[in-house]
Amino acid sequence: VMGNQTEKEELGRATWKFLHTMMARYPETPTESERKSLKDFMMLFSTLYPCGECATHFNKLITTYPPQTSSRVAASQWLCAMHNNVNERLKKPLFDCNGIEARYPCGCEDEKIE
Ligand code: FAD
Repeated sequence: VMGNQTEKEELGRATWKFLHTMMARYPETPTESERKSLKDFMMLFSTLYPCGECATHFNKLITTYPPQTSSRVAASQWLCAMHNNVNERLKKPLFDCNGIEARYPCGCEDEKIE
């Protein structure tokens, strides 16, 4: 259990960055197998995230609003909405989800996002 606020926030920022970047690189037309991987990944992530209270809340949240895996846009918008739900609970400002994919470049060779 993490009791340090600064560490909890750092972990949160790093994790959100990773998750949003993963969605920005998710295939535009995923296969059934890729769709299952994303869904399974998010559900497992929500049970293993190393901040107990965060994990409990997030697991409930994404059980209510299951991961949208049909396309890059669907997945990115879904995660943006989930992050905004957490922002709201923590009384943080909401984020504008328009054009979110381009805001999370990965530094990958195949960087270009259509
Ligand atoms: P963060 O929320 O970490 O966001 C980082 C940056 O992402 C922002 O500066 C902004 O540029 C961008 N951003 C903001 N909103 C969005 C969005 N909707 N879509 C895309 N980009 C966005 N902390 C708790 O105290 N209690 C909890 O229950 C809790 N649950 C969490 C659950 C998960 C799954 C994660 C990953 C983190 C959780 N955290 C929780 C941590 C918390 O969400 C923040 O990461 C932390 O408080 C640091 O906040 P921040 O203001 O730096 O911005």
